[in-house]
Amino acid sequence: MVPQPCVLLKYGELALKGRNRGSFERHLLRNLERVLAAGAEPARVWRRGAVLVVTSTLPLAELTARAREVIGFSVVQPSLRAAKTPDAAADAALDLLRERFGEDDTPRRFAVRARRRNKSFPLTSEQLAAHVGARVCRERGWPVDLDHPEVEIVVEVDRREVFVSVDRQRGQGGLPVGSSGRALALLSGGFDSPVAAYRAMRRGLRCDFVHFTGAPFTGPSSTYKAYALVRQLDRFQGDSRLHVVPIGNAQRSLATAGAGEVQIVAQRRLMIRTAEALARRLRAQALVTGDSLGQVSSQTLSNLATIEQASSLPLLRPLIGWDKEEIIAEARRIGTGDISVLPDEDCCALLTPPRVATHTSAEQLAGLEGRVGMPELVEKLLANAQVLTPAEAKETVAAS
Ligand code: ATP
Ligand code: MG
Repeated sequence: MVPQPCVLLKYGELALKGRNRGSFERHLLRNLERVLAAGAEPARVWRRGAVLVVTSTLPLAELTARAREVIGFSVVQPSLRAAKTPDAAADAALDLLRERFGEDDTPRRFAVRARRRNKSFPLTSEQLAAHVGARVCRERGWPVDLDHPEVEIVVEVDRREVFVSVDRQRGQGGLPVGSSGRALALLSGGFDSPVAAYRAMRRGLRCDFVHFTGAPFTGPSSTYKAYALVRQLDRFQGDSRLHVVPIGNAQRSLATAGAGEVQIVAQRRLMIRTAEALARRLRAQALVTGDSLGQVSSQTLSNLATIEQASSLPLLRPLIGWDKEEIIAEARRIGTGDISVLPDEDCCALLTPPRVATHTSAEQLAGLEGRVGMPELVEKLLANAQVLTPAEAKETVAAS
C-alpha cells in the first residue's frame, strides 16, 4: 500500500457532552462537505469513532486549510495513511519528516506518541512508539525528548490502517453551525457585530444578517461593507443572506417627533423591533448584536435594558464582556478586521444628538414611539428591505 495523504478531523467527546450526537454529526458532515466541494472533485469522508478521515484530489495543504474553517472540529491533522504494520508506520514518519524538513539535517528533539484506537496490532502503543522512534534516531540522527520535543510524531493505529502525522493544527472548535438553531445577526460596519455573529455561529447558530442604512441620506458605502463582511462570514456556514433595510426617513421621523437625547436609543429600538419582525418571518429564534457593556454611551446597562425590551425574542450579545482589543484581535483572526476598518457612512452618525442619554427606560420612550406609529413604521421598513446573497457572487467569481 502506497502511503496516502489525508486529513484527520477530530471533534472529541467533550464537544458532544449532553448533546444529540446524531444532529451534531449531521450538521458537521454537511458543513464539511460544503467546504470540500467548492471547485474540487468530491472528497471521500469516512468515520473512525470521533475522528473523520478525509481524502481528496485537492493538495493536502489546501484540504487542511479548508477543513480548518469548519466550525466544530477542534483538531485538524494532515496525515499519511499507511499499511497496518510497524515498519510502514516508521516509513511514513520518515517520509513526512523529509517532506517537512527536506535535507536540512539540523538535529531536532523529537517524541513519538502512539495510540491504538484498534487493539489488533502486534505491538503495544509503547513498543510501537519505540520502534518508530528508533528508526528516526538511526536515519536522521535526532535525539529523543519526551518532555519538550520540537517535533511530535503522532502514530494512530486504526481498524485497517495506521495514520501518521507531524503537524497537529487547531481547528475552529465550537459546535457545528446549524446544530443550535437559527438567529438573525444585526450587522453594522464596525468591528464588533461581525465578531459577535461569528461567536454565535461557533455556538451552533446558523445566522441570517440584517444591515440598516441611513438611505436616502447616506450613500451605499455601509452596504458595501456589510456585503463584504457577510462574504467573509459565509466561509463558516454557506448560503448566507443579507437583508438591507433603509431607515433614514424613519430616523428623521424620530428626530422630528422630539427624540432629542434619546435619539440613538430610539433608533436602536427601531432596529431591534424591525429585526424581530424579520426574524419571525425567517424563523430565526434569536437576535444577535455586537454590544459590549459600557463601550459607548448607548451601551450603558440602562440603555442596553431599554433596547432589549423592544423585542420579545431573546437578544444574544456574545461580546458583552469583551474588551475592544480582544474584539479587534478576533476580527483579524477571522478575516473581518480589514473590512471593518474601512471608512463608511454609518446611519448612526446621522442625527446624533449633542448629548446622548445614558439613563433611559422603555416607558420614557413610549410617548415618542406612539407619535411615530411603530407597527406601521416597521411594516413599511420591511416592505423596502432588499435581500443580497454575497455567497452566490463568490461562487460566480470562483467559476469564471
Ligand atoms: P459595531 O462595532 O458592531 O458597529 P458599535 O460598538 O459601533 O458596534 P453600536 O453602534 O452601539 O456599537 O451598535 C451596537 C450593535 O447594534 C452593533 O454591534 C450591531 O449589532 C447593532 N447595530 C448598530 N448599527 C447597526 C446597523 N446600522 N445595522 C445593523 N445593526 C446595527
Ligand atoms: Mg457601530
